[in-house]
Amino acid sequence: MDDHTLWYLNKQIERTISNLKKHNIKGFFVKDENELMTLLKELLNGHSVIGVGDSMTLFETGVIDFIRKGNYTFLDKYKKGITSEEKREIYIRNFSADTFISGTNALTEEGELYNIDGNGSRVAPMIYGPKQVILVAGINKIVKNIDEAEKRVRNYSAPIDAKRLNKNTPCTALGYCVDCKSPDRICNDFTIIRGQFIKDRIKVIIVGKPLGY
Ligand code: SF4
Repeated sequence: MDDHTLWYLNKQIERTISNLKKHNIKGFFVKDENELMTLLKELLNGHSVIGVGDSMTLFETGVIDFIRKGNYTFLDKYKKGITSEEKREIYIRNFSADTFISGTNALTEEGELYNIDGNGSRVAPMIYGPKQVILVAGINKIVKNIDEAEKRVRNYSAPIDAKRLNKNTPCTALGYCVDCKSPDRICNDFTIIRGQFIKDRIKVIIVGKPLGY
């Protein structure tokens, strides 16, 4: 990356972190996975019960492995052979986790978090429940405002995610969203988090590279 692009990105990240702060959300910037793990260890100090939301970013950065190997009670929704009833129990237990870790579909420069969810199990604990919420986001997740966030998520993230989940939806054939009413539709819950009563309950860690989609 050349110095001028780096300058632009730094300015964008500074703006985003500063606006998150106005919404009682703490923002961090880390260069790479090594710095991410160091920060995560600090933030998880004294926290034992950890839940996670569906996120490719957490796999790409090694966060899932890190929690599995750590001295935590991991509410592991990805456990091999898990039944749908066990998954449901994990989703309910996530509300009382010490920390819930997830990605976010988009993060606006105005300091807002924008997400689309299928059954709400990822976005609901972001909003309420766990003592601490940590969201890990690649620089590709930063957009100007909510309009851009919605465009990005509906026309890019959601069709790719529907494909990953092998859903029978129009977007998995066409490669773009037609706002379907399909039974397999993954776009059921649209959430904007613009603030929190509890200061710094939500923490956003921006990693200096593209991650997830
Ligand atoms: S609304 Fe339907 S077509 Fe659009 S991205 Fe979601 S699942 Fe795909």
